[in-house]
Amino acid sequence: MAEVLGTRVDILPRREIEQKILAYLKAKSEKSYFIVTANAEMCYRAAQDRALQTALNTADLCVPDSIGVRWALRRQGLAAELYPGVELAEWILKQGFSVYVLGAKAEVLQRLNFPNIVSKHHGFFDADAEKSILAEIQRLKPQVILAALGAGKQELWLSRHKNDLKSLLIGVGGAIDVISG
Ligand code: UDP
Repeated sequence: MAEVLGTRVDILPRREIEQKILAYLKAKSEKSYFIVTANAEMCYRAAQDRALQTALNTADLCVPDSIGVRWALRRQGLAAELYPGVELAEWILKQGFSVYVLGAKAEVLQRLNFPNIVSKHHGFFDADAEKSILAEIQRLKPQVILAALGAGKQELWLSRHKNDLKSLLIGVGGAIDVISG
Protein backbone atom coordinates (compact mmCIF):
# COMPACT_ATOMS: atom_id res chain seq x y z
CA MET A 1 0.00 0.00 0.00
CA ALA A 2 1.30 3.45 -0.94
CA GLU A 3 0.56 6.87 0.53
CA VAL A 4 0.64 10.38 -0.89
CA LEU A 5 0.77 13.01 1.86
CA GLY A 6 -1.05 10.62 4.20
CA THR A 7 -3.73 9.55 1.72
CA ARG A 8 -3.69 5.84 0.96
CA VAL A 9 -3.39 5.08 -2.75
CA ASP A 10 -3.75 1.69 -4.45
CA ILE A 11 -1.37 0.88 -7.27
CA LEU A 12 -3.13 -1.50 -9.61
CA PRO A 13 -3.28 -1.93 -13.38
CA ARG A 14 -6.47 -0.56 -14.97
CA ARG A 15 -7.64 -4.04 -15.86
CA GLU A 16 -7.46 -5.09 -12.22
CA ILE A 17 -9.40 -2.01 -11.07
CA GLU A 18 -12.10 -2.85 -13.61
CA GLN A 19 -12.14 -6.49 -12.49
CA LYS A 20 -12.56 -5.45 -8.83
CA ILE A 21 -15.50 -3.23 -9.80
CA LEU A 22 -17.16 -5.94 -11.91
CA ALA A 23 -16.63 -8.53 -9.17
CA TYR A 24 -18.25 -6.23 -6.59
CA LEU A 25 -21.22 -5.45 -8.85
CA LYS A 26 -21.80 -9.06 -9.85
CA ALA A 27 -21.65 -10.24 -6.22
CA LYS A 28 -24.73 -8.07 -5.38
CA SER A 29 -23.22 -7.25 -1.99
CA GLU A 30 -25.30 -5.79 0.84
CA LYS A 31 -22.42 -3.41 1.56
CA SER A 32 -21.25 -0.36 -0.35
CA TYR A 33 -17.87 -0.20 -2.11
CA PHE A 34 -16.34 3.28 -2.00
CA ILE A 35 -13.86 4.40 -4.65
CA VAL A 36 -11.82 7.60 -4.48
CA THR A 37 -10.12 8.95 -7.59
CA ALA A 38 -7.25 10.92 -6.10
CA ASN A 39 -5.48 13.84 -7.67
CA ALA A 40 -2.58 15.78 -6.17
CA GLU A 41 -4.73 18.72 -5.10
CA MET A 42 -7.07 16.46 -3.16
CA CYS A 43 -4.13 14.76 -1.38
CA TYR A 44 -2.67 18.16 -0.56
CA ARG A 45 -5.99 19.43 0.84
CA ALA A 46 -6.46 16.23 2.83
CA ALA A 47 -3.01 16.67 4.39
CA GLN A 48 -4.36 19.86 5.96
CA ASP A 49 -7.91 18.72 6.66
CA ARG A 50 -8.13 15.76 9.02
CA ALA A 51 -11.85 15.14 8.30
CA LEU A 52 -11.16 14.95 4.56
CA GLN A 53 -8.14 12.68 5.04
CA THR A 54 -10.16 10.35 7.26
CA ALA A 55 -12.94 10.28 4.64
CA LEU A 56 -10.48 9.49 1.83
CA ASN A 57 -8.91 6.73 3.88
CA THR A 58 -12.27 5.00 4.40
CA ALA A 59 -12.22 4.18 0.66
CA ASP A 60 -12.17 0.54 -0.37
CA LEU A 61 -10.11 1.57 -3.37
CA CYS A 62 -8.17 4.77 -4.07
CA VAL A 63 -7.26 5.14 -7.73
CA PRO A 64 -4.44 7.48 -8.82
CA ASP A 65 -6.13 10.01 -11.08
CA SER A 66 -3.48 12.56 -11.98
CA ILE A 67 0.09 13.07 -13.11
CA GLY A 68 0.87 14.81 -9.79
CA VAL A 69 -0.03 11.67 -7.83
CA ARG A 70 2.03 9.53 -10.21
CA TRP A 71 4.95 11.91 -9.73
CA ALA A 72 4.67 11.68 -5.92
CA LEU A 73 4.60 7.88 -6.13
CA ARG A 74 7.56 7.80 -8.51
CA ARG A 75 9.58 9.77 -5.91
CA GLN A 76 8.94 6.81 -3.61
CA GLY A 77 10.20 4.42 -6.28
CA LEU A 78 6.68 3.26 -7.18
CA ALA A 79 5.36 3.08 -10.75
CA ALA A 80 1.63 3.69 -10.96
CA GLU A 81 -0.72 3.48 -13.92
CA LEU A 82 -3.26 6.33 -13.87
CA TYR A 83 -6.99 5.88 -14.25
CA PRO A 84 -8.46 9.40 -14.57
CA GLY A 85 -11.90 9.77 -12.95
CA VAL A 86 -13.48 10.88 -16.21
CA GLU A 87 -12.35 7.71 -17.99
CA LEU A 88 -13.38 5.50 -15.08
CA ALA A 89 -16.81 7.20 -14.92
CA GLU A 90 -17.31 6.71 -18.66
CA TRP A 91 -16.22 3.07 -18.48
CA ILE A 92 -18.66 2.43 -15.59
CA LEU A 93 -21.52 4.14 -17.44
CA LYS A 94 -20.91 1.89 -20.45
CA GLN A 95 -21.06 -1.36 -18.46
CA GLY A 96 -24.87 -1.29 -18.37
CA PHE A 97 -25.28 -1.44 -14.58
CA SER A 98 -27.96 0.80 -13.05
CA VAL A 99 -26.48 4.20 -12.20
CA TYR A 100 -27.68 7.11 -10.06
CA VAL A 101 -25.91 10.39 -10.84
CA LEU A 102 -25.66 12.88 -8.00
CA GLY A 103 -24.04 16.19 -8.80
CA ALA A 104 -23.27 18.81 -11.43
CA LYS A 105 -25.72 21.46 -12.60
CA ALA A 106 -29.26 20.55 -13.68
CA GLU A 107 -28.66 21.73 -17.27
CA VAL A 108 -25.51 19.58 -17.49
CA LEU A 109 -27.46 16.52 -16.27
CA GLN A 110 -30.12 17.10 -18.91
CA ARG A 111 -27.48 16.43 -21.58
CA LEU A 112 -26.26 13.23 -19.89
CA ASN A 113 -28.15 10.38 -21.50
CA PHE A 114 -27.29 6.76 -20.91
CA PRO A 115 -30.09 4.14 -20.91
CA ASN A 116 -28.88 2.65 -17.62
CA ILE A 117 -29.09 5.93 -15.65
CA VAL A 118 -32.05 5.32 -13.33
CA SER A 119 -32.18 8.85 -11.93
CA LYS A 120 -30.13 12.01 -11.54
CA HIS A 121 -30.11 14.91 -9.13
CA HIS A 122 -28.09 18.12 -9.40
CA GLY A 123 -25.43 18.77 -6.80
CA PHE A 124 -26.76 21.97 -5.26
CA PHE A 125 -29.17 20.70 -2.62
CA ASP A 126 -30.11 21.60 0.97
CA ALA A 127 -30.72 19.29 3.93
CA ASP A 128 -34.40 18.71 3.04
CA ALA A 129 -33.61 17.81 -0.55
CA GLU A 130 -30.83 15.55 0.71
CA LYS A 131 -33.40 13.50 2.63
CA SER A 132 -35.47 12.93 -0.49
CA ILE A 133 -32.34 12.12 -2.52
CA LEU A 134 -31.39 9.45 0.03
CA ALA A 135 -34.96 8.12 0.07
CA GLU A 136 -34.97 7.89 -3.73
CA ILE A 137 -31.65 6.05 -3.69
CA GLN A 138 -32.98 3.58 -1.08
CA ARG A 139 -36.03 3.01 -3.28
CA LEU A 140 -34.23 2.64 -6.62
CA LYS A 141 -31.30 0.62 -5.23
CA PRO A 142 -28.89 1.68 -8.01
CA GLN A 143 -25.86 -0.54 -8.43
CA VAL A 144 -23.65 2.54 -8.86
CA ILE A 145 -23.75 6.09 -7.49
CA LEU A 146 -21.59 8.56 -9.41
CA ALA A 147 -21.06 11.59 -7.15
CA ALA A 148 -19.95 14.82 -8.82
CA LEU A 149 -20.20 17.38 -6.02
CA GLY A 150 -16.67 18.73 -6.39
CA ALA A 151 -13.44 17.16 -5.15
CA GLY A 152 -13.44 16.73 -1.40
CA LYS A 153 -17.11 17.53 -0.87
CA GLN A 154 -18.21 14.41 -2.74
CA GLU A 155 -15.80 12.17 -0.77
CA LEU A 156 -17.02 13.64 2.55
CA TRP A 157 -20.62 13.03 1.46
CA LEU A 158 -19.99 9.47 0.26
CA SER A 159 -18.01 8.52 3.34
CA ARG A 160 -20.76 9.94 5.59
CA HIS A 161 -23.42 7.82 3.86
CA LYS A 162 -21.26 4.78 3.06
CA ASN A 163 -22.87 2.56 5.68
CA ASP A 164 -26.45 3.40 4.64
CA LEU A 165 -25.93 2.67 0.95
CA LYS A 166 -25.48 -0.63 -0.85
CA SER A 167 -23.98 0.60 -4.09
CA LEU A 168 -20.65 1.16 -5.74
CA LEU A 169 -19.88 4.74 -4.66
CA ILE A 170 -17.46 6.80 -6.66
CA GLY A 171 -16.48 10.47 -6.58
CA VAL A 172 -15.92 11.70 -10.12
CA GLY A 173 -15.43 15.47 -9.77
CA GLY A 174 -15.94 17.36 -13.01
CA ALA A 175 -16.33 14.15 -15.07
CA ILE A 176 -20.06 14.62 -15.60
CA ASP A 177 -19.46 18.05 -17.17
CA VAL A 178 -16.90 16.51 -19.52
CA ILE A 179 -18.95 13.41 -20.47
CA SER A 180 -22.17 15.35 -21.06
CA GLY A 181 -20.21 17.63 -23.45
N1 UDP B 1 -20.65 20.68 -7.96
C1 UDP B 1 -21.88 20.34 -7.40
N2 UDP B 1 -22.22 20.90 -6.21
C2 UDP B 1 -21.40 21.75 -5.53
C3 UDP B 1 -20.15 22.07 -6.10
C4 UDP B 1 -19.81 21.52 -7.32
O1 UDP B 1 -22.62 19.56 -7.98
O2 UDP B 1 -21.79 22.21 -4.44
C5 UDP B 1 -20.29 20.07 -9.24
C6 UDP B 1 -19.95 21.03 -10.36
O3 UDP B 1 -21.13 21.47 -10.99
C7 UDP B 1 -19.12 20.15 -11.25
C8 UDP B 1 -18.39 19.21 -10.28
O4 UDP B 1 -19.12 19.32 -9.06
O5 UDP B 1 -19.94 19.35 -12.06
C9 UDP B 1 -16.93 19.56 -10.06
O6 UDP B 1 -16.91 20.85 -9.57
P1 UDP B 1 -15.60 21.75 -9.52
O7 UDP B 1 -14.94 21.71 -10.85
O8 UDP B 1 -15.94 23.05 -8.92
O9 UDP B 1 -14.74 21.00 -8.44
P2 UDP B 1 -13.38 20.20 -8.48
O10 UDP B 1 -13.80 18.75 -8.49
O11 UDP B 1 -12.61 20.60 -9.68
O12 UDP B 1 -12.75 20.63 -7.20
